[in-house]
Amino acid sequence: MTINHLARRKFTPAQLLALARDNARARWRRGRAVVPVRSSDGVTPYPTTYPYGVKSSAYAAGRHTGEDHACPVGSLAVATAPGTVEYAGPASARWGSAYGNQVIVRTADNRYDYAHNHLSSWKVSAGQKVQPGDVLGLTGATGNVTGPHSHFEARAAGGRYGSDVHPIRVKVNGPARRARLAKAKK
Ligand SMILES: [Zn+2]
Repeated sequence: MTINHLARRKFTPAQLLALARDNARARWRRGRAVVPVRSSDGVTPYPTTYPYGVKSSAYAAGRHTGEDHACPVGSLAVATAPGTVEYAGPASARWGSAYGNQVIVRTADNRYDYAHNHLSSWKVSAGQKVQPGDVLGLTGATGNVTGPHSHFEARAAGGRYGSDVHPIRVKVNGPARRARLAKAKK
């Protein structure tokens, strides 16, 4: 089902959030990208406003290592792929204080970590299993930022700064994509 303005009127806030979650899971199954940031009511996905890989000497890696989604503080940071929460809390304990507060998820295939950064708060804890669309935390403006946004970054599992991969790998890697790849190999 598509979440539209009609749905906004017809459903309670809790039902809207459930619809957004189900929508993300359906996208994952069909091999379509799950947007990592949604409005606080779950209805509106926030698009990428500064993409992955832009070359800039402003970054130690020489490029933007994630993708940014400009969004108001308190927007929903949602899981893009099934996995297990690796860490939730101040990034000073993991990726570094520049990332503010973060939630890191290890993908179910154990190949990648993806993280939502600059969060105002987190809603999950280490060891928790998550599915696409699950709310991991609320966006914010913590760490090195010029304004409220989500910096969504994917790395090789356990990787350090600079081991980033294109975020699409942790947004479109579900059964539908694997089936397509297997078919293409034959
Ligand atoms: Zn960024």
